[in-house]
Amino acid sequence: MLLDPIDNLDIFRPKMDFTKEVLHGIATFTADISPSFPYVNAELGGWDYDQANQVLMLKLSEGKWITLHPHKIAIRGARDMEEAQALFAWIQEQINDIYERRGTITPRYVSQAGLKIMEILKLLPMTNCKACGYATCMAYAAALREGEVRLEDCPPLIEEKYREKREKLEVYLKNYGWRALDEF
Ligand code: SF4
Repeated sequence: MLLDPIDNLDIFRPKMDFTKEVLHGIATFTADISPSFPYVNAELGGWDYDQANQVLMLKLSEGKWITLHPHKIAIRGARDMEEAQALFAWIQEQINDIYERRGTITPRYVSQAGLKIMEILKLLPMTNCKACGYATCMAYAAALREGEVRLEDCPPLIEEKYREKREKLEVYLKNYGWRALDEF
């Protein structure tokens, strides 16, 4: 097991959060979990992976984040104490499980933050038809980059005339480990 169950936790309300509606938390430990990062990035679709500084950020739904450092895990945006503890337990389990299976996983060193909105836009129909609920393809491209929408949310993309664009877009997103926020 790379990381023992986390018991050194500090869960707190951020001083600068005037809404006082979320909790942040930090867990520290002596184990070095950085060897798992390229595999965790590959399996969970990290938002940003800074290999030089060994920092991996995971963006979850509803404004929640988990940031992994070699000897520290930080979470942001938990609704309450129960959810904060559940997030720590979940990521500890994921790190161990993924690291255990690393022989079967192709490590990934790029991340979603590398996706360019303009590159996504070029692969959309660019008709600004609004069928996705956004006023422009540009707005949809920005939401897609963030994982807030899926390809299926752009109905014209399934039309035969856009098949080539769609296939190229699927490959482009896949190469950066894109995933929708609601996949967790
Ligand atoms: S549905 Fe597709 S083509 Fe229409 S505005 Fe949205 S992204 Fe553009």
